[in-house]
Amino acid sequence: MEKSFEITSEVMDKINSFAVEPLEAKDVYCFSVTLCDNDIDRDGERFSAEALRELAKLFVGKTGIFDHDPKGEKQTARIFDTSVEAQPERFTSDGQPYFALCARAYMVRTSSNADLIREISGGIKKEVSVSCSVAKQVCSVCGADRTKTACSHIKGRHYGEKLCFVTLEQPTDAYEWSFVAVPAQVSAGVTKHYDNSRRDESKQVSKLKGELGEASRKLCTACDFIRGEILRLSYFCKPFYTTEEIVKMTENMDLYKLLEVRRTFEKQMQERKDFIESDEQSFISRIPINDENNNYTI
Ligand SMILES: [Zn+2]
Repeated sequence: MEKSFEITSEVMDKINSFAVEPLEAKDVYCFSVTLCDNDIDRDGERFSAEALRELAKLFVGKTGIFDHDPKGEKQTARIFDTSVEAQPERFTSDGQPYFALCARAYMVRTSSNADLIREISGGIKKEVSVSCSVAKQVCSVCGADRTKTACSHIKGRHYGEKLCFVTLEQPTDAYEWSFVAVPAQVSAGVTKHYDNSRRDESKQVSKLKGELGEASRKLCTACDFIRGEILRLSYFCKPFYTTEEIVKMTENMDLYKLLEVRRTFEKQMQERKDFIESDEQSFISRIPINDENNNYTI
């Protein structure tokens, strides 16, 4: 992971642009680290070379965390310089020219980080994880931007001659980097975490929209059913409402209001049950009689 380099005055100038108090070379421990590269990692993802160049700018000044420090002390290092380095003789697994995003970082020497510095210079802490967000995730098989469109291709699988992997493009932010136990990127000895909350969010949003649409349809069906019941019950209520009046009255009512009206009408019908029954009887006995002049008598 680390390559030693000379702490020149130029290096100190860069470091001091981030320091609150001016630091001297003896105060700092510097090391270099490969943050990520453009090779396909074991998650079936890779950064584009252009993305590495963007990330190089974004990672300057970002803090690295040694989060598995057994003492639980949060010790940090800061990146003061980055570069994208080509290795002309090296190619990615899909035959692209290889590039790595390299960073130079410093730690202010304290009594509490002496052990950590020994570990870093001894090469014990080798793996680095980076956190960033990307605006574009392109499928190698169909070219779909997975932040916008889902595609059916599965990373790591072959489709004919084509291996499916995702190219991470257009980084929008870099958050932090940390030393972790297991590397995802095969060759660089680093892992990366990119923020895919945006993709998850859009997936979640469309799922929720679907659910909401379904729930709305069910609610409409239920409301229409209750409107029908209200209309049916209204025939037994006083004052008598015309169909048109009931439709008008209930068209903008929500479910709760509709249920309330139905309860009121049901209650009325219950109260008028005896009357309604006798009324029905009298209605039956009052079947119109057609006289010879074609006049109906009730
Ligand atoms: Zn695809």
